[in-house]
Amino acid sequence: AELIKRLEDTIENIPDFPIPGIQFKDISPIFLDPKLYEDVITDLAAKSKGKVDAVCGIESRGYLFGIAIAVALEVPFILIRKAGKLPPPVISEKYDLEYGSAIIETREGQIKPGQRVLIHDDLLATGGTTEAAAKLVEKQGATVSQFSFLIGLKGLNGDEKLKKFGAEVYHILEY
Ligand code: 5GP
Repeated sequence: AELIKRLEDTIENIPDFPIPGIQFKDISPIFLDPKLYEDVITDLAAKSKGKVDAVCGIESRGYLFGIAIAVALEVPFILIRKAGKLPPPVISEKYDLEYGSAIIETREGQIKPGQRVLIHDDLLATGGTTEAAAKLVEKQGATVSQFSFLIGLKGLNGDEKLKKFGAEVYHILEY
């Protein structure tokens, strides 16, 4: 509860960014406060302790916390990136955006069959990005055992979209 309050006081709400009507949650002030950052990592790592064999972070804000969670848990960290950034061989997954579509990729072979995977990102909105990441994990014979986020946005049904994976969904705070 205390951590939630500190995050609420730190995360900035930017109206009409990047387009009119969107309330953008800016997490960058968290990095101005190393103790708060450390407490966020401790909280997220505690949620996954003993339950995951690897952490996947989604480009790019998912890296800012994901890699520290993986180090805290002493498990591998795997990058999930937008198409064209990682060298071959890669595994790809296409997903729909509000307008058009996008592709995310991961290096082939870094996620191992049978692993229990945590997928981490800073924020859950519609769940489209995270859903594609989960499909990438399953394509490689691994299982998504948890999803974690700093922030979950209410009313966009992101949690609904992730239900089919049968994994625990955790976010520290909700807007
Ligand atoms: P979704 O695919 O769930 O609709 O969108 C989630 C993705 O968009 C995440 O990768 C997240 O980083 C980004 N995103 C969308 N809205 C925001 C926002 O208000 N603040 C931040 N920090 N990221 C956002």
